[in-house]
Amino acid sequence: MVALSMVPFLGTVRSTTSLTSLAPYNRQISIQNSPISFPRNGFSPFRRFLQACLQSSFASVDTGAKLPAEQSEIIFVGTGTSEGIPRVSCLTDPVKKCPVCTKAVEPGNKNRRLNTSMLIRYSKPSGRCNILIDAGKFFYHSALRWFPAFGIRTIDAVIITHSHADAIGGLDDLRDWTNNVQPNIPIYVAKRDFEVMKKTHYYLVDTSVITPGAAVSDLQFNIIQEEPFIVHDLQFTPLPVWHGHGYRSLGFRFGNTCYISDVSDIPEETYPLLENCEILILDALRPDRSSSTHFGLPRALEEVRKIKPKRTLFTGMMHRMDHEKVNEYLKNLMKTEGLDVQLSYDGLQVPIAL
Ligand SMILES: [Zn+2]
Ligand SMILES: [Zn+2]
Repeated sequence: MVALSMVPFLGTVRSTTSLTSLAPYNRQISIQNSPISFPRNGFSPFRRFLQACLQSSFASVDTGAKLPAEQSEIIFVGTGTSEGIPRVSCLTDPVKKCPVCTKAVEPGNKNRRLNTSMLIRYSKPSGRCNILIDAGKFFYHSALRWFPAFGIRTIDAVIITHSHADAIGGLDDLRDWTNNVQPNIPIYVAKRDFEVMKKTHYYLVDTSVITPGAAVSDLQFNIIQEEPFIVHDLQFTPLPVWHGHGYRSLGFRFGNTCYISDVSDIPEETYPLLENCEILILDALRPDRSSSTHFGLPRALEEVRKIKPKRTLFTGMMHRMDHEKVNEYLKNLMKTEGLDVQLSYDGLQVPIAL
């Protein structure tokens, strides 16, 4: 249940069942339990939304990477660090040639990585739902690369792991969707991160400050707690983790897939939520050691041995992680330990059961 506190004229901010209702920010009406904001830019949300849903359902017909519409899947929209790979500074270095960044320049190279983000394409009888985890600084570039390629039209919800720029820096770019594809986008975010958004994206939270007619993203904020919540009939269980000392980030479990993109430590109470995990997507920043805010590969592998998922795909890799070389090393772990672990890459599509 996507529990909505339906107060007329109140709320691009809504709370999920478990949560407090926050201060009103924007006009809103509710139609059949579905919150629809009045259009600020004069287009008919109903006609466009219907059109968007239809296009979303049929979009896979004319694109390259297709799975049957009834098959749910995840698509890695981005798998790299905040500054992106290749690093500009590596390409301009007059002395040292960075092997990974040099390869990453080549079109289609798997070392080319943008900010970590994942799209869940959830298939249900009424059609496919596109649920995005994080929209960071490079979201526009990721979407440009992968949305047309996979035939992705709508963004039916965005779930936020934490409020660093590589997770929320693309919220402004969602305007293209809310102006041209669909009336609005629900955002699911923890209260502490919503408080950050009030500063970083104050004009998206309190739309009364914008000039009438200005076409900024129309976002509806839903505050989540560290307990399960529902998005378009799909249950998400937050996986609270540490992302640096005293800083909380959320991973999410949906079905038997667990996604943890930014983590330096896993609290004991989170491990039971990872039981019987089939696909684990886990942070692995660098090959040699962990940093203060991210797992390195050795620690990430330790966690895989402890969590025992059927399959693991690492994400959030920096420029020291050479896709082919690291994957070659990881392949050996299958032979020696039976560990199914590999690096993911931007554009990787994995069918999942939901
Ligand atoms: Zn480099
Ligand atoms: Zn972060």
